[in-house]
Amino acid sequence: EKIQAMSGREEKILVLVRLRPLSEKETASNEAADWECINDTTILYRNTLREGSTFPSTYTFDRVFRGDCSTRQVYEEGAKAIALSVVSGINSSIFAYGQTSSGKTYTMVGITEHTVADIFDYIHRHEERAFVLKFSAIEIYNEAVRDLLSEDNTPLRLLDDPERGTVVEKVTEEILRDWSHLKELLSICEAQRQIGETSLNERSSRSHQIIKLTIESSAREFLGKGNSTTLAASVNFIDLAGSERASQALSAGARLKEGCHINRSLLTLGTVIRKLSKGRHGHINYRDSKLTRILQPCLGGNARTAIICTLSPARTHVEQTRNTLLFACCAK
Ligand code: ADP
Ligand code: MG
Repeated sequence: EKIQAMSGREEKILVLVRLRPLSEKETASNEAADWECINDTTILYRNTLREGSTFPSTYTFDRVFRGDCSTRQVYEEGAKAIALSVVSGINSSIFAYGQTSSGKTYTMVGITEHTVADIFDYIHRHEERAFVLKFSAIEIYNEAVRDLLSEDNTPLRLLDDPERGTVVEKVTEEILRDWSHLKELLSICEAQRQIGETSLNERSSRSHQIIKLTIESSAREFLGKGNSTTLAASVNFIDLAGSERASQALSAGARLKEGCHINRSLLTLGTVIRKLSKGRHGHINYRDSKLTRILQPCLGGNARTAIICTLSPARTHVEQTRNTLLFACCAK
């Protein structure tokens, strides 16, 4: 039994589900909310009578968050332990997965801010070590990687570094000074994402955004003495393309090409996650998409992973909500 425990996976993927409230617009148009969290781990589909019994009515996850839960609560009770493992030198990735308008960006921006606040707090409480906190942000759109902190739109190349694995060449890394610096960088990212698009939603529904925080630290007493060991780890916040892109057959031309690539990244992520959740035996196809290649050092191995699946409660979204729950079930 002990040997089995040692050879098995170290950690399973944490699967969180967040139900958003009906929007004002949905409420105004008398939209029905068909999903409800009945306790901290179970979500219930309430409309089975109408739909027949072909689909299960309850789903259980590590934690589910009701529509009236704040992002702080999702952070404190869900993502925090994984995000903050970065200060102990452990890599991690936190994903938001769900259809467009289900609350991915709303959730990830808040989680990123709470994490940075806690990291600054940790740094202030550990003056015996010298810390450097770095911030970078990229977007994967149509399988091209773009730097969200640069006005240069040239796609960035991925390189295989013998020590660090896959790295994004020439990506801007800002040393994060303080809270207002974070806010400034987040607004630059948001502005960069909108360039060349008629609407932000159009683009964000098709592209993946990765914000990466890297912490490097070393003990002050050894600084400059040549024998200090630097501890370094990263945490990634991934705001995925709308999950409807994984299931939707798109029409001809450029849209089809975009659709295919997005399918590839989301589908590859799906197969990687599924394999990791089953105990990472055998080959894992990280190299099949840009997204999984970039995240490989922070996905699997000793890294920790959380997936926040965001759901709309609206009756009109039931098809996509079910698809998201199927993905969530595969990941746990
Ligand atoms: P996505 O990134 O998945 O497309 P957004 O994060 O942009 O979705 O959310 C769509 C809209 O719903 C936004 O106006 C956002 O402010 C709102 N929203 C999302 N989640 C919540 C929530 N849990 N509570 C309140 N409003 C939310
Ligand atoms: Mg979004």
